Amino acid sequence: MNIILLGPPGAGKGTQARRLVEQRNMVQLSTGDMLREARTSGTEMGNKVAAVMDAGNLVTDEIVIGLIREKLESGNAGDGFIFDGFPRTLAQADALGALLHEEGQGLDAVIEMQVDDDELVARITARSTCANCGEVYNDNTKPIPGDGVCTACGQKAEFKRRADDNEESLKTRLLAYYKQTSPLIGYYYAKGDLASVNGLGEIEEVAAAIEGVLKD
Ligand code: AMP
Repeated sequence: MNIILLGPPGAGKGTQARRLVEQRNMVQLSTGDMLREARTSGTEMGNKVAAVMDAGNLVTDEIVIGLIREKLESGNAGDGFIFDGFPRTLAQADALGALLHEEGQGLDAVIEMQVDDDELVARITARSTCANCGEVYNDNTKPIPGDGVCTACGQKAEFKRRADDNEESLKTRLLAYYKQTSPLIGYYYAKGDLASVNGLGEIEEVAAAIEGVLKD
């Protein structure tokens, strides 16, 4: 089973993807995580995309398609891929269709996570993640534990805010979503792959809605 989680920044794609990895043995392919990793390890590509990411713009289709191609060809598919933050443009969507076809695979569902814009801004400006396992915290709804021990991995950890989780970059990221990524909703609707879930509410409620789609 291969699925796409589609939605604006802060919709909860990463959180739900991590849950699906645990519960369904699927493999999360987050281009955002791959790009951040490339930056941390200081690769040439990582250095090239740093400023673009910090400003909240999209990196080139060529780079992200290359990253996804590598992962698809690596043969580590688990019980299916969760595409998280990819595709983000129509060219990426076409390329993903072709890559999956080459591998003799297809898409089983494209799940659009709907969250209103005020909530996205509130979530993103309050979020931080465990540097060890990636668990997401929120200053208002799920504060970082006072003892500094992550509730998910049980390790004493650093809790990091993303460099692009600030109001200025967020504006650019939202614009990029509405201009370049939201046309994918119509694209996948027309292909008959689209399902939409309400991304507001508790993590477990959203997870149940996603399970409902996957069981259909
Ligand atoms: P994310 O973690 O998905 O919010 O991605 C963080 C940043 O990485 C984005 O704001 C973009 O700069 C870049 N990025 C991640 N995925 C893509 C993609 N599929 N296409 C272009 N840029 C991407």
